[in-house]
Amino acid sequence: MGVDKRLILAAAVILPIILTTGCRKSPPPAPPSLPMPASVDGVAALDEVSRFVALGPRDAGTPGAARGAAYLLARLRGIGYRPLLDAFSESTPRGQVGFSNIIGVPPGYDGSSITKVLQNSAGPVVILLSHYDTKTGISETFGGANDSGSSTGLLLHLGRLLSAQKPPLPLVLLAFVDGEECHTAYGTNDGLHGSRHLAQQIESSGQAGRVQAVIVLDMIGDADLNVRIPPNTTQALLADALTAAEAEGVRKQFGISKSRILDDHVPFLERRIPAIDLIDFEYGSAPGLNDYWHTEADTMDKLSAESLATVGRVVLRMLQNLGL
Ligand SMILES: [Zn+2]
Repeated sequence: MGVDKRLILAAAVILPIILTTGCRKSPPPAPPSLPMPASVDGVAALDEVSRFVALGPRDAGTPGAARGAAYLLARLRGIGYRPLLDAFSESTPRGQVGFSNIIGVPPGYDGSSITKVLQNSAGPVVILLSHYDTKTGISETFGGANDSGSSTGLLLHLGRLLSAQKPPLPLVLLAFVDGEECHTAYGTNDGLHGSRHLAQQIESSGQAGRVQAVIVLDMIGDADLNVRIPPNTTQALLADALTAAEAEGVRKQFGISKSRILDDHVPFLERRIPAIDLIDFEYGSAPGLNDYWHTEADTMDKLSAESLATVGRVVLRMLQNLGL
């Protein structure tokens, strides 16, 4: 019995088409999109800082702090992030104090608390974090331009850039934490209240393993920018930050601090959650001095749009390199 070669040829051509068509899976989801580092607008970021600082003192547990929290809730809505208010109370050296963490959730993620947002989603998580309270008792007009206005304003600006991306967005949470400043001396019930509370929530959600990085920004607006990352930082993130700074051509403004720093990244490190602190702890009238810190001299004229843009670009470059 002869075989028609044309049929064999036709089968050879058609069969693979049928097989591949039949087995074709739906295309892989588009990778989350991230803004380009060059899209950071330092002038717009400085404007965010200025508007927030104009609220005045935001000492934890005071009406000023409540004004700060209300502003952040409204502003997050304005930039397309969904705000969550997490109010809690802790005993401190000055008695029981109420604190409010504000968490910004990007579009596409649901859940009425940080725990639920994490449990309702899958994939990597990055948290950009700034405290928004001010040091207590400086003055009635103290706005804390660099500490904590600079990082708060830059986070809002970065959130605006992130939420403007085409969906799906990566799970980049914006955490504005309360009570970073201690009243008397840092201890288990004085200072770092908001970050400790958030770190505990992430740990007890069972989702800590998905957190790729908590990137803490603090005092990053000084016109004379010298970010010094403390050695008590997740080493892989330290390397990432320096690589990102190199790629952005600003490596000279980023280095490693000689001494450890107790800041909002520490409660995460204590729970084995990767964390880094981008801080410039030389904020003063001459190189090496820190004499503007926690004084009435911490005002907007000491900040620059360029410094905010530099840090913002490095953070966005880090996000790209984290493989979200
Ligand atoms: Zn401070």
